[in-house]
Amino acid sequence: MRILLVEDDAMIGDAVRTSLRHEGYAVEWVRDGRAAEAALATEHFDLTLLDLGLPGKDGIDVLQDVRRRRQALPVIVITARDGVGEKIKGLDAGADDYVVKPFDMDELLARIRSAIRRSSGNAEPAIEVMGVRLNPATREVTRDSQPVLLSAREYAVVEALMLRPGVILSRAQLAERMYAWGEEVESNTVEVHIHGARRKLGSDFIQNVRGVGYFVPKPGSKT
Ligand code: CA
Repeated sequence: MRILLVEDDAMIGDAVRTSLRHEGYAVEWVRDGRAAEAALATEHFDLTLLDLGLPGKDGIDVLQDVRRRRQALPVIVITARDGVGEKIKGLDAGADDYVVKPFDMDELLARIRSAIRRSSGNAEPAIEVMGVRLNPATREVTRDSQPVLLSAREYAVVEALMLRPGVILSRAQLAERMYAWGEEVESNTVEVHIHGARRKLGSDFIQNVRGVGYFVPKPGSKT
């Protein structure tokens, strides 16, 4: 397993690299956004640990580029303490998980194992509804065979609905799927992400039952 560590703080970077190597991971450590960009564009990694506050190029921009290229690379974001806004930005930009500085090394290692497990094993088959195809293992979504880039939140909504086509999920049930880490949920946030997903997947793809919730049609059903 090969990990790209992107961290400009020398002490943290050195400590993380030492721990990861101790656990048997191959680690490449770069200290700025440009070097991260170059490494990710040319080499294979099984996971990236990405600090957001970086010289050269912001971590969020690095992450967005990874997702724009549709790399199914697990990315764990490293945020500063109190960086709630950063954390949300990171997840929205397509991070799989995050740790907050100062983090516990054992927790980081557990999150790495979990992210790699999710990306490689437990492969569920792809689901297709109305020309939209979703692969839960790789988190890739296509519409009429064209790749669609969803934010992490949009993806969570679409996945929740597509796993149960024809079943109406309430706003609260969808919020649960979108906010797996005990975050505060703002009142209209589910609608915002549904709007975003509809814009990308078609306005009739996610249907609303007023006052009840949302669903996607069953494959083959006429709606
Ligand atoms: Ca930093």
